[in-house]
Amino acid sequence: MSQPKVLLLGPPGAGKGTQSSNIVEEYGVDHVTTGDALRANKDMETEHGTPREYMEAGELVPDPVVNEIVKAALEEADGFVLDGYPRNLSQAEYLDDITDLDLVALLDVDRGELVDRLTGRRVCEECGTNYHVEFSPPEEAGVCDECGGDLVQRDDDNEETVEERLDVFEENTQPVIEYYDEEGELVRIDGEGTPEEVWADLRAAIDDAN
Ligand code: AMP
Repeated sequence: MSQPKVLLLGPPGAGKGTQSSNIVEEYGVDHVTTGDALRANKDMETEHGTPREYMEAGELVPDPVVNEIVKAALEEADGFVLDGYPRNLSQAEYLDDITDLDLVALLDVDRGELVDRLTGRRVCEECGTNYHVEFSPPEEAGVCDECGGDLVQRDDDNEETVEERLDVFEENTQPVIEYYDEEGELVRIDGEGTPEEVWADLRAAIDDAN
């Protein structure tokens, strides 16, 4: 079986990061995520300013910056799960030009649930493992179960920025979902089950597509 090329769509907080880790572990593909790449390069000077200015406001970083990141990462990958991109139609068209996908999967979650998930999310500074203060707390508050690193809240997971990010998603990324849906390529996965239930559905969809 060739290495799958999977696009994972869904609003912020839908579980794309968690499910991407499962895909990486199961299929040995690369995880290509514009959010992590931009967080690691927040203060990079570009002709459009730094990513930080956009990210802290919950807005999209300009297309040329993210397109470049994705192109370089996909060129190096033998199979991948792409997460956090494309976030608007022009990025989707760019992606069409540079690769062929085996599966486009959407993790479907209601907005109210997303706000609760995002504002309670904590992330390990060292290894990136995600927790939730209420739904999946670590054994010791503020400490990562996996590596002992400090758990922090992302700068953009405060309530005001979360609402802005969800508005940006509805305005810019919803048309991307419709774009793949109209082409008959979209597989919808119920993202409100447990992480294990969501993973079972997603893995079955990947195996079907490959
Ligand atoms: P994420 O970790 O995917 O929620 O992304 C965090 C922030 O990074 C977003 O709110 C945007 O500011 C920026 N970002 C990530 N991916 C993209 C993208 N494909 N296009 C534009 N901005 C992005």
